[in-house]
Amino acid sequence: MAATARGAVLHAFHEPLVVESAPLPEPEPGAVIARIDLAGICGTDIHLSHGHLPIPTPLILGHEAVGHVAALGPGVERDFTGAPLAVGDAIAWTSSIPCGRCHWCVVEGERTLCDTRRVYGINQRFDQFPRLSGGFAEAIYLQPGSAIFKLPAGVTPEMVIALGCAGPTAYHGVIDVTGIKAGETVVVQGSGPVGIASAIYAHLSGAARVIIVGGPQSRLDLAREMGVGDVHIDIFTVDDPAARRAMALAETPVGRGADVVLECAGVPEAVAEGIDLARRNGRMLVLGQYTDRGPTPINPHLITKKQLTLHGSWAFAERHYLGHLNALPAIAARFDLERLIARYPLDRVNDAMADMAGGRVMKPVLTM
Ligand SMILES: [Zn+2]
Ligand SMILES: [Zn+2]
Repeated sequence: MAATARGAVLHAFHEPLVVESAPLPEPEPGAVIARIDLAGICGTDIHLSHGHLPIPTPLILGHEAVGHVAALGPGVERDFTGAPLAVGDAIAWTSSIPCGRCHWCVVEGERTLCDTRRVYGINQRFDQFPRLSGGFAEAIYLQPGSAIFKLPAGVTPEMVIALGCAGPTAYHGVIDVTGIKAGETVVVQGSGPVGIASAIYAHLSGAARVIIVGGPQSRLDLAREMGVGDVHIDIFTVDDPAARRAMALAETPVGRGADVVLECAGVPEAVAEGIDLARRNGRMLVLGQYTDRGPTPINPHLITKKQLTLHGSWAFAERHYLGHLNALPAIAARFDLERLIARYPLDRVNDAMADMAGGRVMKPVLTM
């Protein structure tokens, strides 16, 4: 193993990332050193680089990565599922380590809500041990307590990275929290990675019809070509919300509205529009609001009158990550995930970030 690894470091908000080297420590008991093969860039990384969330700097960004075992710390013999783990094994890992002791972790069993979660690429400083704690790097030091998964048979690194954090996030929200029954009509608001992943899980759940309301056109075209979504409504072409509503409702049984609305847009106003699209006695999941963009007017009367069930869902825990990994072969058999990926070498990380920010690519992936 080389004694150092390079990583893309955020030193100051709104500034380009700087590729720097750091030494690779020997793994302590319970830790694992992974060589990273592919690292995904997520919309959250753009927000982080602009200081939209409270994070420390300097920081190696990146919370989506897949790689292989370079070194096992003393005592590490198996992955999170109990499978034997050896140097060279292809692995993926959850981006966060919950404390495992607090009210949220233990009493509620909702580990994504842990107050003191450590999150790779988000709150682990580059100027503190073990330094290599983000995905935009040639290697990462996986701290004791990390949930590490040997890639199941039939799962490739490309499958894991194509949907990135959106995959397990959608698994949590769509499969675990909301649930979709075979034959239901689903509206997905948003056509970024979370929208695509949620639409894929709606299809996988047996939805009769998946209506994507999103944009820009290039993203909807990609979704259509991949077979993701049955109906695609472009919010930029149809920029009048009332017209969009009429178009979407016309695609639901007898115009009653969607059985399930999945908000994956990240725009506060989408929530009011989503409530309008749900049928009476329907369900709605607010999944896309990862950045706090402030309050938005909604009509609460509709929630009561329609007897709506509203759900929220934050990130993903180990069980959602594993569920998603296990679902990937079925997803990949039906959808050409490779089409989501645009590859960049680590040295072009700032170009990749700019292309993500501009919506020119669906999933920029750094190749190491
Ligand atoms: Zn993300
Ligand atoms: Zn906790």
